[in-house]
Amino acid sequence: MSEAERIRTDILVVGSGIAGLSFSLKASRFAHVVIVTKKERVESNTNYAQGGVAAVFDPHDSHETHVADTLVAGAGLCHLRAVEELVREGPERVRELMDWGVRFSREGGRVSLGREAGHSERRILHAEDLTGQEIERALLAAVAAEPRITLLEDHFVWSLSTVMDPMWNRVRCSGALVLDVHGGSFKRIEARAVMLAAGGTGYLYRHTTNPDIATGDGIALGYTAGAAVANLEFVQFHPTAMYPAEARARLVSEAVRGEGAVLRRRDGTEFMTGYHPAGSLAPRDVVARACDAELKRTGDEFVLLDLSAIDPLVVKRRFPNIVRECAARGVTLPLDPIPVVPAAHYQCGGLLTDWDGRTSVTGLYAAGEIACTGVHGANRLASNSLLEAVVFSHRASVRLAADLQDLTSIPGVISSLPDLVAHGRPPAEVEREIRDLMWDKVGIVRSDDRLEAARAEIDTLSWHAIGRDGTGPGAMHARQTEFMRLVAGLVVRCAKRRRESRGLHFTETHPRRDNEHYLRDTVLAR
Ligand SMILES: Cc1cc2nc3c(=O)[nH]c(=O)nc-3n(C[C@H](O)[C@H](O)[C@H](O)COP(=O)(O)OP(=O)(O)OC[C@H]3O[C@@H](n4cnc5c(N)ncnc54)[C@H](O)[C@@H]3O)c2cc1C
Repeated sequence: MSEAERIRTDILVVGSGIAGLSFSLKASRFAHVVIVTKKERVESNTNYAQGGVAAVFDPHDSHETHVADTLVAGAGLCHLRAVEELVREGPERVRELMDWGVRFSREGGRVSLGREAGHSERRILHAEDLTGQEIERALLAAVAAEPRITLLEDHFVWSLSTVMDPMWNRVRCSGALVLDVHGGSFKRIEARAVMLAAGGTGYLYRHTTNPDIATGDGIALGYTAGAAVANLEFVQFHPTAMYPAEARARLVSEAVRGEGAVLRRRDGTEFMTGYHPAGSLAPRDVVARACDAELKRTGDEFVLLDLSAIDPLVVKRRFPNIVRECAARGVTLPLDPIPVVPAAHYQCGGLLTDWDGRTSVTGLYAAGEIACTGVHGANRLASNSLLEAVVFSHRASVRLAADLQDLTSIPGVISSLPDLVAHGRPPAEVEREIRDLMWDKVGIVRSDDRLEAARAEIDTLSWHAIGRDGTGPGAMHARQTEFMRLVAGLVVRCAKRRRESRGLHFTETHPRRDNEHYLRDTVLAR
């Protein structure tokens, strides 16, 4: 294969979600930036965020209560300093989003503040229920107007380049090998620093609210380059996503159950009262576990959410989008029940960073869902993730403005380009196996036996090479599946280490919290 094209820049940013874009806008004030993103520029978890961004704007609200609410959700594992920075800097970063053109919903001359589960005050800024789409729109427009930023769509990061830096006498990240997916060729991007803002891992699971970009690539890339990862066992599942939930599953908000909707088995019997005195109004994690238990017991693919007890006018007025979505699937509300499943939604762990976005590899930074900053601990408080992305990518940009002086340009080592001869199993087949095994054995309710079985299956998978079909989208799919296999193995390793139940990690073998041994992060370093 011919030599790859070379591109030189100061900073390479991987990902065009809220973290990558907001970081790039800041970094372009002191450096040239190249953003690469593996699909169209809007395609990201950010684009599907609905609820909003949590920040203290209401005069009745306070930093102390936002901190306290976040700590309660995090079940003992949040890092207090990270949470304090998040909450203190949050409102300023949200105002910057507005300066970049994000139009949050307003009422009575002020931003409208919603309330969500776990928040003791109204503090959710939102753009109707399409907040992420509005953020993407505005940030992409701001990026397009910035001459020091180049954005390359359909450019997939294959591997990170590392070199021995004589100044630091240690390995340093110096760019990446990138596949131009439609051009079918490789590019070597040489950079003084790399920001990984490549998002989460929801697509590792059979059912997910995430789009199919959320395959954990950045975690695999960072870990392979030598960066430590932490807390990957804490995967948040949304209890009620519309079935089928292959990817980008539509959420059915908790407010529907708040109005009186009831969860039922497919034979029509109500089951939540058998799990919690509050029935269908039980907390999110209890509902997710109960649905999971019912699906495992009955072998059904979904349970039903029955809205028939709610006044049809209320349904129409309160949930117009859900009514529309259901109608498009042939479900007429409120008479027909909605088929729902729990679905993987958010990864609380990721590449371990300090409070300024630095990973354990020099020159390699991370922000957004990919990063484990210490904010979420064992469970994420709703709407804290978009906030975390803007606060910590800002902090990383400030840090990097200083660090960049010492990160001089070093030509990368010329390693050979990957072998792209088609061989092995079709990626789609391996991907399906990974998603099924993660759902069945590393999902909402875990056990030592199931985790061990998952580990063995993932190890077996590694004996089969994944076939690479040429240099186009097929090659990307194959590489992405390799990333999924690696990250699935890391999630299992983290989950096996935590021999207790805490926050989002629930295991039947160790159903209680164990503060004596496990009041700490699960860290995996290479
Ligand atoms: C349905 C849904 C609703 C949500 N609602 C809310 C909410 O109301 N409030 C809230 O705070 N959070 C919400 N979240 C979570 C929140 O949207 C995400 O945590 C956040 O948007 C992550 O932003 P990010 O920039 O880190 O990653 P993303 O927005 O996921 O961006 C990742 C980017 O990396 C790119 N990428 C990945 N791998 C590669 C590679 N190998 N090469 C090149 N590019 C790559 C992707 O293409 C993408 O552009 C929701 C999530 C979902 C799915």
